[in-house]
Amino acid sequence: MSARPALELARAEYRALSLYAPNRVPCAVDVSDNTNLWGAPPAALRAIRDAENSALTRYPATYAAALKHALAACAGVCPDEIVTGCGSDDVLDSAIRAFAAPGARVAYPEPSFPMLPLFASMNGLAGVSVPLGAQMDIDPDAMLASGARIIYLCSPNNPTGRALSDDAIARIVERAPGVVILDEAYAEYSGDGWLARGPRYGKLLITRTLSKAFGLAGLRVGYATGDAALVAEVEKSRGPYKVSALAERAAIAALAQDRAWVREHIAHVRSNRERLTCALLALGLAPLPSDANFVLVPVVDAPTVAQRLRRCGVGVRPFPALAGVGDAIRITIGPWAMMQTVLDALAEALACA
Ligand SMILES: *Cc1c(COP(=O)(O)O)cnc(C)c1O
Repeated sequence: MSARPALELARAEYRALSLYAPNRVPCAVDVSDNTNLWGAPPAALRAIRDAENSALTRYPATYAAALKHALAACAGVCPDEIVTGCGSDDVLDSAIRAFAAPGARVAYPEPSFPMLPLFASMNGLAGVSVPLGAQMDIDPDAMLASGARIIYLCSPNNPTGRALSDDAIARIVERAPGVVILDEAYAEYSGDGWLARGPRYGKLLITRTLSKAFGLAGLRVGYATGDAALVAEVEKSRGPYKVSALAERAAIAALAQDRAWVREHIAHVRSNRERLTCALLALGLAPLPSDANFVLVPVVDAPTVAQRLRRCGVGVRPFPALAGVGDAIRITIGPWAMMQTVLDALAEALACA
């Protein structure tokens, strides 16, 4: 992507911004984005195929009431304790805008989800990155010392893979002066997470997505749980009509009928994650322990390794110079045939180093 000169008409903060560029080139085996590599859930697919004309011609529900009901039932909260969005990205962006005025600080761990610094800039906020502590866990005191109006946490953390400790999360939630956002995009792979607990704490917002374990990244459906008054503010900031009619129908179908399919693939992820980890160790690599559907693997010169893999038709996400880790590549866990292709390509890429 060539950088265009910034438009003078743009807001000052926007002139320094560039587009999110994960540098994703189509390739035969794409293990770069942590989506469900087994495919789409069957009931959701049927719902899209069988959708009536009005799903295209008419506006969707203003605030996705039916989807909120379905999500609430699964999450074990009330429908008014749910806010949905066009992906959880939309919920995160709306939330930081709702709870912090331009100029205020938003703190996030380093390394963590790269969208957060971007959303902070897009909303005129000052991003403060706080290094992860020992064992890739958060350091609650450092996080709290940032003086941030909003604290963002991600568990399991992307791209490191480890779930944060409950104690550290609880300590932050108890003592934070403002809103705490806990991003649980990968929680289905690690256990129960905090989802049902969200509304109990007035200032905790827990985001989830149907993009990962549910296999619906293309539909863009995300949500959060929290105290009813808290999620109502996020909903104002987000605006109406953000979940399309087709996405809402498919998501409701998936929540009603595809949960066994989702569970089955979570089990496949866990066993293939162990198997891949062993195979990577055998290659002389030291993948970080993961509670998610990906592993982070430190390598020398990640961009070059990623480029060599791409030549073999394998797409991984390179992370050059990650704080506390160094260069690393991130590999999404998928069906074993795919993992074998990745391993073979990786052995070759490392051999020619
Ligand atoms: C993938 C991911 C998301 C999900 O984004 P959507 O907009 O729901 O697709 C959110 N947070 C993290 C940390 C992620 O890795």
